[in-house]
Order: sequence, then C-alpha cells, then structure tokens
Amino acid sequence: MTEECIFCRIASGELNTEFVAQNEHAVAFDDIAPAAPTHILVVPKQHISSLRELDDPIVAASLLGLAQQVAAERGLHDCGYRVVTNDGEGAGQTVFHLHFHVMGGRRLGPMA
Ligand code: AMP
Repeated sequence: MTEECIFCRIASGELNTEFVAQNEHAVAFDDIAPAAPTHILVVPKQHISSLRELDDPIVAASLLGLAQQVAAERGLHDCGYRVVTNDGEGAGQTVFHLHFHVMGGRRLGPMA
C-alpha cells in the first residue's frame, strides 16, 4: 500500500467505501463520476500502477473474474457491457493504480 494512492486507501477499507463485491485479490466499487448507468471499478488490493506492471496470473484472473461477476450481478448481460483499462497518461489514465472500468446499462457507443 502506498499512503498517497487513493485506490490503495479505498481497497484497504480505510475510506469505508462500499464494495460492490470483492475476492481475495480485488475489490469492486462504484465510480465516483459514472460514464454509464452502471460504472464499476475493479482494482487489485495490492498496489500495481497499471496493466503493464501486472505479472501475477492469479491476480489477473481475480480481476477479470470479479469484473465478470459484477457484470452478471448488475444484470449487464442483456444490454451488453464493456471492460476497459487505460494504461498511461496518453491513454487517459488519471489514477495510477490499476483498475478495470466495467460499464453498461445502456447501449454503448464506439470504442474511442
Ligand atoms: P482512469 O482515467 O482510467 O485512470 O480512471 C480513473 C477513474 O477513477 C475515473 O473514472 C474517476 O471517476 C474514478 N475515481 C477517481 N477517484 C475516485 C474515487 N475516490 N472513488 C471512485 N472513483 C474514483
């Protein structure tokens, strides 16, 4: 955990954020500025700055498994959903703790 990382503080429970779901390696919570009716962030409990630093296949499976789980639990299968991660400032990453956006709840537009 790094003291100044907001997602480390959320994932550790320090900020009392309500988790949508969690497993051994990852937590899921609602995005503070949703870009779709359902917009959940799935983040590792350990600090990993972005996708390029993810080298543990167990953590990778935990993250994707949790994304899949929350999409199903929020009923996103009917409308379809998108799972996105931004890696690097040039791709729009603003929080440098790996996270997957799970978005759905309406018809989504083109990728970029
Ligand atoms: P990115 O631009 O891909 O790094 O995404 C960062 C996301 O984190 C944005 O969608 C923000 O709205 C979201 N975000 C930032 N701070 C918080 C927070 N404290 N709680 C929930 N979501 C947050």
